[in-house]
Amino acid sequence: MVMTDVERSAAAPSERVGLLQTVLQQFDEAADRLDLPARLRGILRVPQRELTVNFPVKRDNGRIEVFQGFRVQHNLARGPTKGGIRYHPAVTLDETRALAMLMTWKCALAGLPYGGAKGAVIVDPKQLSIGEIERLTRRFATEISVVIGPERDIPAPDIGTTPQVMAWIMDTISMHQGHTVPAVVTGKPINVGGSEGRLEATGRGLTYVLMSASQHLGLNVPDIRLAIQGCGNVGSTVAREAVALGMKVVAISDSRGGVYNPYGLHVEAVLAHKAATGSVVGAANADTLTNEELLEVECEVLVPAALSGVITAHNADRIKAQIIAEAANGPTTRAADAILYERGCVVIPDILANAGGVTVSYFEWVQGLQEFFWSEREVNAQLRRVMTNALQQVLRVAAEQHVDLRTAAYILAVQRVADAVTTRGIYP
Ligand code: NAD
Repeated sequence: MVMTDVERSAAAPSERVGLLQTVLQQFDEAADRLDLPARLRGILRVPQRELTVNFPVKRDNGRIEVFQGFRVQHNLARGPTKGGIRYHPAVTLDETRALAMLMTWKCALAGLPYGGAKGAVIVDPKQLSIGEIERLTRRFATEISVVIGPERDIPAPDIGTTPQVMAWIMDTISMHQGHTVPAVVTGKPINVGGSEGRLEATGRGLTYVLMSASQHLGLNVPDIRLAIQGCGNVGSTVAREAVALGMKVVAISDSRGGVYNPYGLHVEAVLAHKAATGSVVGAANADTLTNEELLEVECEVLVPAALSGVITAHNADRIKAQIIAEAANGPTTRAADAILYERGCVVIPDILANAGGVTVSYFEWVQGLQEFFWSEREVNAQLRRVMTNALQQVLRVAAEQHVDLRTAAYILAVQRVADAVTTRGIYP
């Protein structure tokens, strides 16, 4: 997938704001509730470090092209920073700042010993050959090598980058060091130090949270119907895991549209149809529906797993789901949040619902540092522990402070980072 959060935003024009603005607004709301002193707000509102690099890459035709890239480290108080690297033609420094800040809150909420970071290169990887992507990656890794490292900042895949790209970064840094440095990136292929369960971690982590939230709300697993927007890595994993747990998936979509069966889709058949044809549309025993209709079908759980800004003030009152579990980053606008909360719909926010990916990235980093690798069963058990703990903490704060889960999640995360900054003190 190669669309940026800003570009992919489906929000109405009146609600369409840049991701940085939304993320800062959410931070300000939490800071107000925490009565955070101005000096801490000043520190947390801006990235601690930003590196912009302009670097040449030799194209296959012999021409030299200069690309621009960024690495933003939002806050280092809780540990080294962690966050993906995105290759996209429309990515901006502001968007990278927003995503770095989101990573700080996500890591703090999950209790991981990290701050947040994000990297990006302004490039359309679909326009480059494999060899060109490798040369671009190795040169970008070299340019940002002054700020990354197992104890400093650990990149991972994001939109437009893959486990292979992570392997090239790991190899480049290892060549500079003269020895293999597996913990410099996560999301690597298994054969060079990747973790079992990393690929499925985001979708699996979301289903763990969903199971716990459903229990909390008194929903019966066999009665739970899911509608899933997006059938990529996360959407397809959620669909498979939900069915394995005994839930029904009644609708799933991709960029070309969706399929619907009120009695439950045959998920493996739908995924096989997508593998064969490129889309879920046309799968047997299902009606076709649009991505907009999918959001409004009769179901207990809606999982937006594709775009940001799809749930807005314009459709929030037509959504039937009792739970919205945000797999995508920023699928719900703040205006929609208010309507959904009023209507009793529980929104499990992105920094909680999709934290499974970074959590298993953390496990991969730990395994790499110790050179001791866990079984998939061990990875999944630890993932479940982290995700359900985080949910319980968020539910407790939401109940105590009478706020929605997003606000509760931000309160917890911002407080933890502010505490770390305070305890460490201001140097010198
Ligand atoms: P992916 O590229 O594997 O899949 C994206 C899916 O969205 C595809 O099925 C695509 O067809 C669909 N899509 C694209 N445009 C669409 C449109 N206009 N309408 C409906 N569907 C559309 O991506 P992914 O890794 O599954 O990530 C999905 C979302 O979850 C993204 O927002 C991503 O930022 C977020 N996320 C992913 C991870 C992870 O570990 N993969 C972690 C955290 C957050």
